[in-house]
Amino acid sequence: MADTPLIASIRRRGLMLVLSSPSGAGKSTIARNLLESDPAFELSISVTTRARRGSEIDGRHYHFRSRRDFEFMRDNDELLEWAEVHGNFYATPRAPAEKALAEGRDMLFDIDWQGAEQLREQMRADIVSIFILPPSMRELKERLRRRAEDRDEVIAARLANARAEIEHWRDYDYIVINEDLDTAFAEVEAIVAAERLRRDRRPGLFDFISGLLDEKLE
Ligand code: GDP
Ligand code: ADP
Ligand code: 5GP
Repeated sequence: MADTPLIASIRRRGLMLVLSSPSGAGKSTIARNLLESDPAFELSISVTTRARRGSEIDGRHYHFRSRRDFEFMRDNDELLEWAEVHGNFYATPRAPAEKALAEGRDMLFDIDWQGAEQLREQMRADIVSIFILPPSMRELKERLRRRAEDRDEVIAARLANARAEIEHWRDYDYIVINEDLDTAFAEVEAIVAAERLRRDRRPGLFDFISGLLDEKLE
């Protein structure tokens, strides 16, 4: 049976890479490294109602919005997924992700397990998901402290939520333990390299193999 146009287009779609982890395990650091080293990736910039941290830039790290604006976007179907995380709302804007998908470009999502679950339902064939674990809860606490971006009670809430987030590890395709950053990043790069070689992400192979088989040897 011939493929429908939808299936044909899915085969040509880019890599939708989802990174999740408990807060402080290092997913933003790994995401930043990947965006720097691999220009094919574009970051999906989430909308959030949480307060901007000192180091963050509106429109680059997040689109910081009021709760009212967020609800407006949600009610107008502008959000591909949304979730409440640590008492704030977070969401993936629909338009940039769907455009990247349709154009076969690779996109990186730094979202929680609830968002990952919703994206898997919406874009089944395209999602590759990685769960990042800290080497220990003690080290997780230390990283949240060292990052020095959140108030003590915010850090406590994030640590308390860490166990619940970690319980979703089974839903992910890959698990990376971020003990040494360079090692963890190399593992993420290896996953990306292997996923790009998957048969169903390489529409050009059909012509290449036809050419191989048609090649005449003297
Ligand atoms: P305002 O609150 O005085 O700016 O009143 P408006 O009626 O202009 O907008 C109501 C809310 O909807 C505001 O929070 C706007 O930021 C938001 N809003 C207006 N247009 C858009 C839109 O096209 N997209 C989204 N996401 N929000 C919008
Ligand atoms: P997340 O995005 O998961 O909340 P971040 O990427 O902000 O986490 O990392 C939390 C803190 O831990 C940051 O200060 C970061 O520089 C640091 N960090 C990340 N990976 C490592 C690592 N392997 N070893 C030590 N510190 C790390
Ligand atoms: P932070 O406040 O530390 O930047 O992010 C807190 C949590 O929200 C992280 O687990 C992060 O992955 C998640 N998050 C960020 N953006 C989104 C999003 O667009 N959707 C969902 N579902 N989660 C998000």
